Amino acid sequence: MTKEAVIIGAGPGGLASAILLASAGIKVKILERLPVIGGRTSSIEADGYKFDLGPTFFLYPRVLDEIFRAAGTSLRDEVEMVRLDPQYRIQFGEGGTLDCTPNIERMEQSIAALAPSDVPGFRRFLAENRAKLAAMEPCLESPFLGWQDLLQMRLLKMLPMLRPHQSVDTYLKCFFKDRRVRLAFCFQSKYLGMSPFRCPSLFSILSFLEYEHGVWHPIGGCAAVSQAMARVAQRLGVEICLNEPVEEILFAGRRAVGVRTNAGTHRADAVVVNADFARAMERMVPDHLRRRWNNAKLAKKKYSCSTFMMYLGVEGTFDRPHHTIHISKQYAQNLDDIENHHILSEDPSFYVQNACVTDPTLAPKGHSTLYVLAPVSHLHPNIDWNKERSRFRKLMFEKIAQAGYTDFEKRVRYERIITPADWDTRYEVYRGATFNLAHSLDQMLHLRPHNRFEDLDGMYLVGGGTHPGSGLPVIFESARISSRLLLEDLDVNSEAPLLPGSLREEARTSASNKPGIFTTAATMLGLRSKSTT
Ligand SMILES: Cc1cc2nc3c(=O)[nH]c(=O)nc-3n(C[C@H](O)[C@H](O)[C@H](O)COP(=O)(O)OP(=O)(O)OC[C@H]3O[C@@H](n4cnc5c(N)ncnc54)[C@H](O)[C@@H]3O)c2cc1C
Repeated sequence: MTKEAVIIGAGPGGLASAILLASAGIKVKILERLPVIGGRTSSIEADGYKFDLGPTFFLYPRVLDEIFRAAGTSLRDEVEMVRLDPQYRIQFGEGGTLDCTPNIERMEQSIAALAPSDVPGFRRFLAENRAKLAAMEPCLESPFLGWQDLLQMRLLKMLPMLRPHQSVDTYLKCFFKDRRVRLAFCFQSKYLGMSPFRCPSLFSILSFLEYEHGVWHPIGGCAAVSQAMARVAQRLGVEICLNEPVEEILFAGRRAVGVRTNAGTHRADAVVVNADFARAMERMVPDHLRRRWNNAKLAKKKYSCSTFMMYLGVEGTFDRPHHTIHISKQYAQNLDDIENHHILSEDPSFYVQNACVTDPTLAPKGHSTLYVLAPVSHLHPNIDWNKERSRFRKLMFEKIAQAGYTDFEKRVRYERIITPADWDTRYEVYRGATFNLAHSLDQMLHLRPHNRFEDLDGMYLVGGGTHPGSGLPVIFESARISSRLLLEDLDVNSEAPLLPGSLREEARTSASNKPGIFTTAATMLGLRSKSTT
């Protein structure tokens, strides 16, 4: 008999899971509360302008390509992708500019213009992080369902490279003396919603990924990738129901057996939750059924920062790169304001995407789209967005003009703003924390909500709230991990297309376990003592 799965949410995690499960012969239905697919990776379209709502950096396309291949197609066949060069410009508030390019020689010249003595560190950084990524990949591709999963050969191999007690910034001091050069290789921790001064050093692989595998722009924006995924899923027979919010997950004892929506009941053999993890738990699963992740415990967890967004349709064009990151003169203070004091900085860092230089399909001829993102605190009583919205907007307009986008305000023809309060209420993101639970060591691997949800049976998580974490490539990886577990549990035999390359290799060679040594490894990572249910 055909097995059935219901997926709550048509974000990237939900769509990738739908493709994988349907490719394996499962009958899949996606229920989405909004009238559009893509979740935070959808678009805003108005007056001839088109903006990505959330992601604009598409990194490491390999994972999604493998998922498409499981469905008999490829990323290139579905979406036109452009590799950006320069990848982005960094403009430092304290002075200086760095155009970051994947061309090694040109990048060395760029670094030399800022800090000549830091040039040799670049190739050393690339070499060390190449090895680090190779060691980490199997961990990112595997489920972490308990501390026993840490006690594996592959984690031990990683240990000398991981430097678990260092932040990315501290780690980068081994390569670069100039603070600005270090920032160029660590601001990427903001992709996880974290400060590079607190983000674990293993995430230095983020900037490495950019130089090694590229920063890509999908023509039509990242939302075009979501559209392509929905298309592929539907070709495989997946049913996508829009405007159908799930109100509760139905249980028989401790087993999920379906969901109830505003339109009725959907029974299933398995339920996959792609909706924001903490919000979904609060809204859809009774508190008394959750042990490890009940409401009181959720409230005590650490959450990522949020973002203040401006989507501006502007008459005229800008002689600016596709991505520019404007770093505050008071960078450390700005991060402290966001993560510790939960107040708004007067000199915030921000990012501007001027995508029409690469992709004229996004605006009417002779016009541009400017996407402006300022990292800010997640929702906190210190900031009342009803009061701050227009003041902060005015501040951002001043900052943008000072950053060299002269004369732009009077050319704005379309404007939309999203504050952390909007992320919370309109997009159902817990505390408006756009990048989910923080990626601190105590909330990673088996200490993150498990892909096979540990509190209940028949329920699986995909997306930024589970292992491996937030960001598109790892969200696609979470879909691969959760789908594999779901198929195993339903006794559906379909391993080949779901297994990533390195795991297939590992399964063949099958390393043996040596618990004594591995326990030490886990303890060194600071993860051993907090065993799971
Ligand atoms: C501003 C911003 C910028 C980002 N930039 C990048 C970037 O450049 N690169 C990158 O890799 N990542 C980036 N990310 C992070 C991440 O890749 C995206 O947020 C991604 O969309 C998260 O995917 P997801 O599958 O976890 O969940 P989501 O995209 O949030 O999808 C979840 C879906 O569940 C639906 N849902 C919620 N509740 C219900 C319900 N009750 N019933 C039915 N459906 C429901 C939601 O409507 C949504 O469609 C960014 C995120 C944000 C917000």
